[in-house]
Formats: sequence, C-alpha cells, structure tokens
Amino acid sequence: MGERKYFHAIQILEDNCTGCTACVRVCPTEAIRVRDRKASIDTNRCIDCGNCVDVCQFHAIIPSSDPLDLIKNFKYKVAIISTSFFGQFTEDISYAVAKQAVLHLGFDEVAEEAMVTEFMISMIRDYIRANRGKRPILSSNCPAVVRLIQVKYPALLPNLFHQEAPMSILTRYLREKISARENLADTEIGIFLIVPCVAHVTAVHQPEGAYKHLQDGAFSTGMIYGKVRDIIKQVQNEPLTVETYPKGLTWALSGVQAELVDSDDIRALSVNGVENVMDILSKVEDHYLDQYDYIVLRSCTNGCVGGCLNVENPFVAMSRIKKMIKDGETKDIDVKDLEELYNEGEFAVVPLTPRPIMELDKDIKKAIQKMKKINEFLTLLPGLNCSACGSPTCYALAEDIVMGKASIDDCVVLLKRHSKDENE
Ligand code: SF4
Ligand code: SF4
Repeated sequence: MGERKYFHAIQILEDNCTGCTACVRVCPTEAIRVRDRKASIDTNRCIDCGNCVDVCQFHAIIPSSDPLDLIKNFKYKVAIISTSFFGQFTEDISYAVAKQAVLHLGFDEVAEEAMVTEFMISMIRDYIRANRGKRPILSSNCPAVVRLIQVKYPALLPNLFHQEAPMSILTRYLREKISARENLADTEIGIFLIVPCVAHVTAVHQPEGAYKHLQDGAFSTGMIYGKVRDIIKQVQNEPLTVETYPKGLTWALSGVQAELVDSDDIRALSVNGVENVMDILSKVEDHYLDQYDYIVLRSCTNGCVGGCLNVENPFVAMSRIKKMIKDGETKDIDVKDLEELYNEGEFAVVPLTPRPIMELDKDIKKAIQKMKKINEFLTLLPGLNCSACGSPTCYALAEDIVMGKASIDDCVVLLKRHSKDENE
C-alpha cells in the first residue's frame, strides 16, 4: 500500500516568506521548517489548526477553500452554515437577514448546523451512557483535534466519540429528503458547507473515518463575507420570513456545549486553544482526568468562533452569539428520523488509525544508531529552543541534522559563539 497523501487547506507563498520563523514557533505538531529563509510544511504532521495562518504577518501562509462558482455544477444547491457564522455581523444585522443573504448567493436552500445541536447533545449523552468502560470520551467535532490525536496521542484514539459531526449528519439527512422531494439524483444535489476554519475545509475534502464522501465543497466565511455584507444592504429592508435556530448556536461555543452535556450522571469539561488541548490530552494519557465522562476539545480560542477563516474577534463573536441565544425563539425540529438513523448505527464512523510521522529508520539497528547521533548533537546545541535555526526546538534540529535535512551550522547561536571565539 502506498503512503497516504494528506490534503491541506493551506499553502505557502514562497515569495512572501521572509524566513522570520514565527510560524515555526506556533505549530503544535512541529510541522514547519525554515531552510534558506523559506518555510515549508511536512504534510504528514500538519493538522490544519490554522495557527501559522494567524501568526504570519507577511501573508506567506494562506488558507484555501473552494470557489463559489462550484455550485453552478449542480441542479439543486444547498448551503449548510456553521454556527459561528452569525457572530460575525454587527448587532444591527439580524440573524435572519444574514441567513437570507446566504440564500441570495445562489443557493436553493440554506440550512444551519444549529438545527441538529439539540439532537447532538442527546446523542452524545446516550453514547456516554452506553460506553461506560471508556473514560473520558473525547469530542470529535473539531477536525484539528481529531488529527492532533492521530499524530501525537494515538493511544487516545479509542476514547474519541465515534459518531459523525453535526454538519455531516445534517448533510445525510438533507440529501435523502431533497432527493425524494425534488425527484433528483444524488449527483444533481450539491451540498456545501460554510466553515470557520481550515480544518473544516480539509475535513470536507478528506473526511477522517467517514464511510462516504458527503459534501461537495467548503466555502470560507472570510471569502463570502464581503459578498454577504453587500447582499445584506440590499435585502435588509425587504426581509423574508426565515426560520432560525438560536438555541442551537451553542455549538459554536465550547464551554456552553459542555454545560449542556453535563447532567446528574455525566461530568463534562470544556477546553479550547490548541496548547490547552495538548496539555489536557497529556493528562488524559496519564489517567489524571478519568473522573470526567466527556471532554469537549476545540483547537481554536473559545471554540469555532475562534476559527482562522472567521472575521470577527472570537470574544466579541461569542458575546453576540450568547445574546442571540438569549433573545431568540427557536423553532422545534422533528428529529425522529435522525434518532432512528442513530439507533440503526448509521452515524457511526470507521475507527480512526494513527497518522505515521517520521521514523528514524526502518532498520531497528540503524534507528538506534541515529538516536545515539541525535543525542550527541543535542549535547553540542545550546538548548535554548529559540527556533532561530528554522527547526522548532534543539531536539528537532538534532533530528533534522541526522536525517540529512539540516546542518549544525544552521544553529545561529553556535555560529555566533564560534565567530566570537575566533575573534578573541
Ligand atoms: S511566519 Fe513563517 S511563513 Fe510567514 S514569513 Fe515568517 S517564516 Fe515565512
Ligand atoms: S496549520 Fe497548524 S499544524 Fe499545520 S503547519 Fe500550520 S501551525 Fe502547523
């Protein structure tokens, strides 16, 4: 079997890269190296967290999503909007008008992730109760967290909530309904997600654990934002009656989701921000958090409102969404069909496997020799972990040297020391 190729929704514009190494320092999986003043990404290690996109001041790492024109390939076009989307607009723009504006982008129907939030919460509770032997259960909705576990914490893969994410559940449900109602073949229906982060774009193109490829494309909130704002100006005075689901917007906020799952017999914890998530996953590995039944893990600040494709500050967006939840009235949704599908096991995902990252050598003897050499180089390096060499830590540089990807001369601290010694 050939090596698996990983899709990523980010790309490096070499001409813009100054070699500053800011991206190297924020990458949680040590996927970035800067050599000859240009950054490159190890595709096996990258989990699409978007940290490097956020930190690069030179726009040398840019996110990618699908072009909106893609919808023209389908007879019936559906947009599914992520819950964080509605926190992106100022408070004079109503939730319903923002949703109506998305419809005017050229879709025949607009649905929301928020429609299935309540169903998700009851499904999560049921799953936790049915899997008493596994503790804690780890949320699987954030694709960056799922990949982080595959790359760095593979022993925790069995703890993941092994059911599909809300936008995938909604896609399956809508496909069936629309196909029957409109008398259309599956291939004539295009279902597209409007997403807050690069991890979700990647998940649409390369879903982990899905039995079937479900969606036809993903559009970044940032990419459509300008167009939506223009349409809002046109439709604000002629609003249509649009159903909204404010109660379901809680899905955008990691803390609120944990509060909803929490109950008499379920203790839930919420964690966001990739550094915090890594700290918690290390503690879960050490069985330090076995007292929790469920842990909501989101790679971005405050949950999906912090996604790098959003336009609004995550704290402001969170406050707006909380206001919408408080002020709004939610239409009840009939989830009987979804419950039936869940009970039939239709939302289960394929158990996930670890992502292999670099091995020193296939030959165990050679691998041990290389390990010794890494330790030798490590004693020579200053131990500052400054990243100025283009590798994230001194250990990573020692590894890169032994693997023939760097030289000891890349260490600027040693270089300076040597030239000082020579001048004395
Ligand atoms: S942050 Fe990374 S990609 Fe951006 S300029 Fe610096 S080294 Fe290059
Ligand atoms: S997206 Fe995240 S994991 Fe991938 S290279 Fe950037 S910082 Fe590293």
